[in-house]
Amino acid sequence: MMQDTAEILSAIIARVRTSDPVNCRSWFDDLLVTEFAGGLLQIGCPDDVKAQYLQDRCLPVFTQSAQSITGHLVTVEFVVANRVSPARPDTSMSAVKLHPDYTFDNFVVGPCNRLAHASCVAVSHSPGTTYNPLFLYGNVGLGKTHLLHAVCHEALRQRPSISVQFLSCESFVNRFIAAIEQGTIADFQRALRTVDLLIIDDIQFLREREQSQEEFFHTFNALYNNHKQIILTSDSAPSDLAKLEERLISRFKWGLVTRLDAPGYETRVAIVQKKAGLRGLQLSEEIAQFIARQVHANIRELEGALTILYATAATANEPLTLPMAQQALGHQQPQREKQVTITDIINAVTRYYNIRPADLLSKRRSQSIALPRQVCMYLARNLTRHSLEEIGGHFGGRDHSTVLHACDKIDQLLQSDPTTRSQLAELTDAIQQP
Ligand code: ADP
Ligand code: MG
Repeated sequence: MMQDTAEILSAIIARVRTSDPVNCRSWFDDLLVTEFAGGLLQIGCPDDVKAQYLQDRCLPVFTQSAQSITGHLVTVEFVVANRVSPARPDTSMSAVKLHPDYTFDNFVVGPCNRLAHASCVAVSHSPGTTYNPLFLYGNVGLGKTHLLHAVCHEALRQRPSISVQFLSCESFVNRFIAAIEQGTIADFQRALRTVDLLIIDDIQFLREREQSQEEFFHTFNALYNNHKQIILTSDSAPSDLAKLEERLISRFKWGLVTRLDAPGYETRVAIVQKKAGLRGLQLSEEIAQFIARQVHANIRELEGALTILYATAATANEPLTLPMAQQALGHQQPQREKQVTITDIINAVTRYYNIRPADLLSKRRSQSIALPRQVCMYLARNLTRHSLEEIGGHFGGRDHSTVLHACDKIDQLLQSDPTTRSQLAELTDAIQQP
């Protein structure tokens, strides 16, 4: 039987790594046993965010592993081991617990999210004075929530006394309703209107909730007038938040509005490497590239793929190889769509608009050429796996911001103009014909 507590802990962690790969983190190596007596195994963590994470997400698997390794009934408890750095004063009333991994360090920056990242960094350094409000939008799984956590981590690191309210929009609504029912609306309002930093994630949930919108409107004004920072995220641009009051929409645009795009191939490879590293998993470049080619829509899916590979390697008890990865993820990909190339897109678009391929590559800016060129970029962005840089390269060596601009432009047209919508649908069909 093991006596050494360090040895016991590392055996527990080894077991946790195989039975719960989703929650495994490389910083598990920094844990230590602070007490082991009377059936209580107290595990010390480097900081309170990590202790919270373990307590919330990993308690059952640690307890089970501890019991089977020691052969005793054991209660596990996570504490902050090193109290040299004082525990954070409890000024933040956040309903959201910060995720230890959602930091700026762990966020991979690429053309798809550079502006969003930079604006979040700026806001975390000087809340209330740079961009207010900061409004981030983009599809699900592109890193909005991660950036919000990172802002909190960084703002709290720089100024531990800062008061923060970080709520999902749903919990804003639920707390508001509860406050009305319980007659505690004044407390609710005070709690929100006196903070330095208010973050509401997924503000699109305010749609069709008129009373909550009204309440949020006044919260917004109170904070804004006091130069307190407001950060909001949404699945769509402010102007596309139909059913939201116009006066709110216009306020959302007072500060900075930035969009997150789906990551291109290079960024996906870097994210896979980053995520693997966080779990203490070694991945060859070849395997990272393979994963990044398999999964492209959404970063959460990339993480799902990693978890599968992790479990595969752990079960086989062997280092991961490319054939293992191919086998594990191979049957994940039922779709057998045609691989669209940029040439397919150029062919279809030039035929459709009756122009020459050379026109697309030229510097000409007349609308009859500029629009088809933007359509090409948009389609290349959505139907191929090329990065923004690569796409720009295909169209006369334009840079990634030109491609992003083109995609924005077409996105806007798709929202506002039915003719563009039907043209794009027709083109997409033509391109995807096998
Ligand atoms: P959203 O809120 O936009 O739906 P999340 O912030 O929840 O997306 O991100 C989904 C997952 O993808 C998270 O695990 C997050 O850490 C990860 N992720 C997204 N973007 C990045 C990035 N640029 N670098 C590293 N991880 C990322
Ligand atoms: Mg989110």
